[in-house]
Amino acid sequence: MINVTKTFFPPIEDYQKQVQRIWDNQWLTNNGELYKELSEKLQEYLGVNHIIPMTNGTLPIQIALNAFANGGEVITTPFSYVATTATIVWEKCTPVFVDIHPDYLTIDETKIEAAITDKTTAILATHVYGNPCAVEDIEAIAKKYHLKVIYDAAHCFGVSYKGQSIFNYGDVSTCSFHATKLFHTGEGGALFCQDEPTKQEMWYRHNFGHDGPEKYHGLGLNAKMSELQAAMGLSVLPYMEQIMTERKRVCEYYEAHLDFSQLSKLKLREHTDWNYSYYPVIFKTEKELLNVKTRLEEENINPRRYFYPSLEELPYINSSHCPIAKDIASRVLCLPLYTTLKENDLKTIVILINHG
Ligand SMILES: *Cc1c(COP(=O)(O)O)cnc(C)c1O
Repeated sequence: MINVTKTFFPPIEDYQKQVQRIWDNQWLTNNGELYKELSEKLQEYLGVNHIIPMTNGTLPIQIALNAFANGGEVITTPFSYVATTATIVWEKCTPVFVDIHPDYLTIDETKIEAAITDKTTAILATHVYGNPCAVEDIEAIAKKYHLKVIYDAAHCFGVSYKGQSIFNYGDVSTCSFHATKLFHTGEGGALFCQDEPTKQEMWYRHNFGHDGPEKYHGLGLNAKMSELQAAMGLSVLPYMEQIMTERKRVCEYYEAHLDFSQLSKLKLREHTDWNYSYYPVIFKTEKELLNVKTRLEEENINPRRYFYPSLEELPYINSSHCPIAKDIASRVLCLPLYTTLKENDLKTIVILINHG
């Protein structure tokens, strides 16, 4: 069976070595040795200044919204994973959807200003598939209207834009370290920000608001990453270059062999150093997509409709103003992409797509 992705498992000896340290320390969570080491190594690997690893990639979004959005209107993209919208609603804010750019598939920055009202407090945009939003334009809009910017950068491990980590943009950026993502800790994620006071605010919120054992700074919940998660992270991190190289190989195969007179592909933003996190292709019609998907499934190959439906179609949302996102979501399919995907299988996939 070939799925859209396959979790990278480091050699078990690597993991055992890390887990042994946990047993030696007799320490499972709350700022443990492995957690601190992973934080430092990630900071260095990614080239970021302020990171808080967390339990998953959803809680850091919630925490940032809790700190910044104040129950107001949050301008957001309809083309993302459900977590982007669900966190807004969960934090009792109102999502205001702005349509996406038809080529980059990120929020269309030229349509943001028209959606701003006196209730708008923040912008939550996704660097979808690791493709950066128009970060400079968004920053200028945010400055002009005094809005906070949160980037759901769940797909962006290792992505740089204009020579620096994409996590260094926005007031807060978040990443997911879920098993299906590029770098993983089983479940896991992180919050990134640009200064120490913001980090402190976020730190309180992710640890029950504790400011000392019996003192509380404010409202908080529990989003702490455990030592067991950090052990997986420390075991996977040394393989990142290898993981990227292998994924690049798969992407280049698709690039060279798919028939792009029948398909269109993602346009990467200029000045982006990409991470090969997804391989989306856009069919001419939804019918063609469904035909190809069925043909692939008959051969036990399971691509995924990332991201379908458009988030405006969620049962708890009752607006629909983003025709481009709705249209693209109905026609986009993510092809299998992982390190051990063999050339023979790639050949089968390409033939099934090209000769439908
Ligand atoms: C995976 C993902 C998340 C959620 O991350 P988890 O670690 O699974 O909580 C959020 N946003 C996007 C765009 C994602 O793809």
